[in-house]
Amino acid sequence: MEIKTFGVVGAGQMGSGIAQVAAMSGLNVIMSDIKEEFVERGLKSITGILSKNVDKGKMTAEQKNAILGRLKLSTSLKDMAAADFVVEAASENENIKFGIFRELESVCAPEVILASNTSSIPIGRIATQTKRPPKVIGMHFMNPVPVMKLVEIIRGIATSDETFQTTWDLSIKFDKTPALSNDYPGFIANRILMPMINEAVYALYHGVGTREDIDTVMKLGMNHPMGPLTLADLIGLDTCLAIMETLYSGFCDSKYRPCPLLRRYVEAGWLGRKTGRGFYEY
Ligand code: NAD
Repeated sequence: MEIKTFGVVGAGQMGSGIAQVAAMSGLNVIMSDIKEEFVERGLKSITGILSKNVDKGKMTAEQKNAILGRLKLSTSLKDMAAADFVVEAASENENIKFGIFRELESVCAPEVILASNTSSIPIGRIATQTKRPPKVIGMHFMNPVPVMKLVEIIRGIATSDETFQTTWDLSIKFDKTPALSNDYPGFIANRILMPMINEAVYALYHGVGTREDIDTVMKLGMNHPMGPLTLADLIGLDTCLAIMETLYSGFCDSKYRPCPLLRRYVEAGWLGRKTGRGFYEY
C-alpha cells in the first residue's frame, strides 16, 4: 500500500517533530491532539523551526509554505480514517495509549499500520488493544526529532515482516537511520539511557554533587553533548519517571527503582523545560 497520508496522534514535542519530518519528506500529514490549543502549540513549534531554517538559508520561504500546506490539524481521532499509516505520540501513559489504539482500530482501514512512538511500553501489550497485532509496531523517534538521526524500530512478537519493512523504509524516507530492537522493556535506547539518568538523580539526591557538577562531569568527562540532568529536563521528568516505572515493573528488578527525588519533582509539576522548571529553571 502506498503511503500518501501520514497520521500523527499527539502534538507535543515529539508528535509535532514527527509531523514536521513527515511533511518535509513530501507526505500529507494529519496531526491530532485532544484540544485545539495543543495542536496550535504543535503547529507554532513547527512554524518556528521552519522559519529559522529559512533565516539560515537552509530552505526557501516557498519550501516552508509547501511543508506547512501539507499539514492538517485535528482534534478528533476520526480524522485518522484518511491516513495510510498512523504513529501515536501521546503522553507516556499506558491507559491513554491503549484507548487511542482501540479507537484507531475502529477508525482506520484494516491494512493501515498503527505505530507507537512509546519510549518503553511493550509493543505486544499495545498490539492486543487492536484486532491487527501483525500491523502494530514501535517507531521510536529521538528528541528533537528534526535533528536526531535515529529511529529505533521495535518489533512486537506478532509484528509481520511486511509491517517491519514498511516502517523501516519509511524511516529512511524521513532521512533517518533505523535500528532494530526486540520488544523488551525500554527497548535498547531507554534500557541503557534511563538508568544512567536515574543514577544521576540519585547522585543529586544523595548530595554527591550539585546539578551543575553532575552535568559537567558527564559532559566533559564522558564527552556527552549534554549532562544527564539537562537531558532529563529536555525529555520531560514525567516521561523519565514513566520509563523507569516500566523498566521496574517489566523486569521485577530493584535496580530499576525510580529515584524518590525524580518522583517528588514530577508530583510538584516540575517536569523540565516544558513546564519551565525541572532540575534547572527555564
Ligand atoms: P508531551 O507531553 O510533549 O506531548 C504529549 C501530547 O499528547 C500532549 O500534547 C497531550 O495533550 C497529547 N495527548 C494526551 N492524550 C491524548 C489523546 N488521548 N489523544 C491525543 N493526544 C493526546 O510528550 P512527548 O515528549 O511529546 O512524548 C510523547 C511520546 O513520545 C511518549 O510516549 C514519550 O515516551 C515518547 N518519547 C518522548 C521522548 C522525549 O524525549 N520527550 C523521546 C522519544 C519518545
